[in-house]
Amino acid sequence: MSGEHSSSKLRNIIKSLEQGMEDARGLSKSLSGTGLMDRLMCAVLGAGGSPQRGHLAAKGILSQFVDWNEVRVSGPTSVSEAMAAAGLPDSAARARTATEFLGNLFRRYGSMGLQFLKDANPSDTKRFVTTVSGEDKVLNAAILLVAFGTPVVPPTPSLHRVCGRLGVCPPDASAAQCAKKVQSSLPAEMLLDSYNLLESLAERYCHPESPDCKRCPASAQCPSARKFLKAAEAGLASKCGSRTGGKIESRDAKARGADGARISRKERAVRAGKKK
Ligand code: SF4
Repeated sequence: MSGEHSSSKLRNIIKSLEQGMEDARGLSKSLSGTGLMDRLMCAVLGAGGSPQRGHLAAKGILSQFVDWNEVRVSGPTSVSEAMAAAGLPDSAARARTATEFLGNLFRRYGSMGLQFLKDANPSDTKRFVTTVSGEDKVLNAAILLVAFGTPVVPPTPSLHRVCGRLGVCPPDASAAQCAKKVQSSLPAEMLLDSYNLLESLAERYCHPESPDCKRCPASAQCPSARKFLKAAEAGLASKCGSRTGGKIESRDAKARGADGARISRKERAVRAGKKK
């Protein structure tokens, strides 16, 4: 597939996702009025999935704590409980990642103030990210994209899955190659919103097992949809089969008396008062 063709294919998919998941569009606009610390935590809490989920988690946590410093000193258990109470998924793992990140930030820089990043250039921000979050490629790319607007796409397993199924990348492409493909196929200003839409697609419809292709907003453009729909139909057929089995069982039950012993058709008719 030529670069131009794959870029227009991906743009069309993104358009369908915008139309089919209206509540997942325009994340960059919602984040534009928030401070750097909030955006950082949105990236950290959403890493590995949709940044929108991270945004919701960050808002949910902040509704129960005074600020991110209180979150840091409260520890992962309290944060996890607060997240679970707000109905946020994966609360334990995300709370651990968030408090670890805040702890590293405080230990390394002695405060939660990020004024020193105000005029940071791209290599300063990259250094800051690896200093605080280590070598986790997915987390680092999520922070760079969501918090700093750097045009990089996190190589998550979920992005790898949806890009493979949608035919955006060749089937044998690695997660890193898929992320690079998305990155190079879209303009920088579209990356955050598009990445959020693709991750939301993975969370809502394109599950690892039994994707919900029937309701998926990208099914018309997805070369894998037919295969999955056929498999789902086959699953339905086996359920129909078990219903047929139910009829056979009920016929069989009628052919037996109360004690379970098999009785003849003639005898059944006599018992039903049809024959004397
Ligand atoms: S149509 Fe099915 S396989 Fe394709 S992206 Fe949607 S959910 Fe995934």
